[in-house]
Parts: sequence; structure tokens; C-alpha cells
Amino acid sequence: MSNRPKLALTIDLEDWYHLPPITGAPDSTFESVEQFFEEWNGRYDYLTAPTERTLNILDDIGVRATFFVVADIVDHYPGLVSEIAKRGHDIACHGLHHACAIDPDTKRPGFEPDEYQDRLRTARKKLEQASGQEIAGFRAPNAYVGGWMLDVLEELGFVYDSSVARNSLYNKTDSSLEGVSTNPYVPCKGELRPGGSRRFTELPWPYYDIGGIKLPAGGGPLTRLAPERLLQAGVRQSLQRGTTIFYFHPLDICRESFPVDDSIQRLFWKGRGKRAENCVRNIINTVGVDRVVGCDELITNGTPLTVGGRELKQ
Ligand SMILES: [Zn+2]
Repeated sequence: MSNRPKLALTIDLEDWYHLPPITGAPDSTFESVEQFFEEWNGRYDYLTAPTERTLNILDDIGVRATFFVVADIVDHYPGLVSEIAKRGHDIACHGLHHACAIDPDTKRPGFEPDEYQDRLRTARKKLEQASGQEIAGFRAPNAYVGGWMLDVLEELGFVYDSSVARNSLYNKTDSSLEGVSTNPYVPCKGELRPGGSRRFTELPWPYYDIGGIKLPAGGGPLTRLAPERLLQAGVRQSLQRGTTIFYFHPLDICRESFPVDDSIQRLFWKGRGKRAENCVRNIINTVGVDRVVGCDELITNGTPLTVGGRELKQ
């Protein structure tokens, strides 16, 4: 593999009821996904169709990706996770039920470490059984991440996380993120700060630095909402700094409207569908198919990277 910085293409697999207005956050409509399924009588699956579409797009372009999967999808969408794995993609973990593990306002842990560990263990087992792969990577639901969470992940044998987004607009972590850039790094124990020496890597998200103002450029909602050229510029600039990631959700390219009944949410999802899909396609094509990889191609044996070695010396 060439030593040019890579773009890890990542896809967060969750359905509409995993989103914070519905479940998984302190002010969600339903206390949990379990409660949602007890009380919801209508159709719930708005995920299978856009996931198939995602797989076809990846085949069409000719790239592999890492799918960060909410583990309860294994129970509610039989065969979906195994199909993604069979089509050559890398499976990683996006939580058991997509619940925020730190409080979005206070950033305090939302779980005791033991309970958090149990949930992750269950999630990983479900994903391993469904995919036949060893699950090595994690992305925090809604990107709410704290240093203590990485320690729990490491203890369980995960070797990387990809949740940290440094930018000037928001910080969803329990840390200042000083020293964090857009390239892979080894975090210190109990923290998100770079400079650690352990077999655990953080793959942070890209940003576009304009005169010291850092605009987020990781993807996700931005594929629906942000000007595409800003995202393009952010990804390009981040790749000049070294290897980075990009992500989207099958829901971003979903053609149907799912049951969100408030107007702010409807506005938030307005660019869903073709716009978001074109944005994803254009970014992959601009970067170049040969530089787009799954996260598993960046990390071997828990030790950071086989490519873009300069990132480790930052
Ligand atoms: Zn998510």
C-alpha cells in the first residue's frame, strides 16, 4: 500500500428511531429502544432500502468501507449485517442501542463503567456472530465520547475508536481536544489527548481550518446540510495533514421520509436523498478510489498504522 494519506470511508448504520429525539438521549420521546419496540405499532424499517442502496453505490464506485453498526440491528433486521460483511466490508461497533454514553450537557458518564462494559460486550458478541468478523473498532453513538470510554474499549480488546471531532462549532467530548488534529493518534490513558503509548488508536474526523476557525468536515448531517465545496475543501485539507475519515448514514441517502413529526427535525433532514448521495459520490471521486479504505486497512494488531507513518510522529 502506498504511503500517501488515506481516507477511511465509514458508514454509521442506525435507523430513525435510534436518533436522539426518539431514543438514547435524556430528553428522547422513548426511554430506550426496548420501550420503543414495546409501544410502536407502525412500520419501523426505513433502513434496509438505503443500506442496499449504499452497498450498490460502494460496488458501483469500487470501494470498501467500515460499517459502524448499532448492535440491536442484528435482532431487528435479520440478515442485514451478514450481507454487508459478505459483500466485503468491515464491521465495527456503534453501541448496543445507540444511547449516549455521556450526558450531552454535563459530559458526565451516563453509565457505570461495569454496565458500560457489559453493554459493549453484548454488542460486540451480536456483531461478531452476525458478521463472522472480529470486531475491533468503535464509534460512539451521536459522537458523545469521553476518555474513560476508550479505556473500557481497550480493556475489552477493541483497538481503535473513531468518534473525536475537533472543530470551532461544537465539542461533544469531555476533553478540551487540545493537540487533536485530523490524523490518527494514540490517546493518553483516561483522556482524549494525544501522546499515549498503548495499543489503541483514535481516528479523528476532518475539519476545514480557515484562518484558525475550524469548520467540521466529517460528513453525516453535513452531506445533507453544508455546501458541498466546504466539505470537499475540508477533506482535501485534512488529507494534506495525513490520513483521516469521512462518514455518512444510509439514512442520509434515504429517499423516503420517516416518522419524525417536528418541524425542526424535518428541516434537519431536508437534504436527505439525492443531494447527500451526490455529495458522498463526489467526495470519493475527488479523493480518488485508490486512497479510500476501510478502517481495518489502517490498523494492524492494535498498533497504529501501516500507512501514513508520519502521523505517528506528530
Ligand atoms: Zn449514530
